[in-house]
Amino acid sequence: MTGDRARGLRPLPEPDDDLVAAFWEHCAQGRLCFQRCTECGAWRHLPRVLCAQCGSAQFQWSPSSGRGRIFSWTVTHQPLVRDFPEPVPYAVVVVELEEGVRMVAGLRGLAPAELSLDLPVEVVFETVAEGSRLPFFRPRKP
Ligand SMILES: [Zn+2]
Repeated sequence: MTGDRARGLRPLPEPDDDLVAAFWEHCAQGRLCFQRCTECGAWRHLPRVLCAQCGSAQFQWSPSSGRGRIFSWTVTHQPLVRDFPEPVPYAVVVVELEEGVRMVAGLRGLAPAELSLDLPVEVVFETVAEGSRLPFFRPRKP
């Protein structure tokens, strides 16, 4: 890990099941996709087997608009986990996407002190290792 840290690399997702792995595989291709129930149309995230609305196990991966609003956030002022290369302070945000699901990601293009509730954001992917991209959110132009 020391060598990775010296190169500014971060820990990568380590999916513990096939559904989580599929989510990250879409991200690696630069696509934000969520499961969408083919019985009732409900979107779901985090990846899971059954629809929370109707209980169906049927779904398809569907592309998100990638647009949403800041629902919540936290700001790290001390690098307690040294594996992340961002200079402090940095923000981790909870975004409510247009599809209604919420996800956690890093923030780009805005100082943490400038964050506000309901701020419009859009997803942006960064290549963090060969063949691996991670989603972040940045402010959306009106
Ligand atoms: Zn459903």
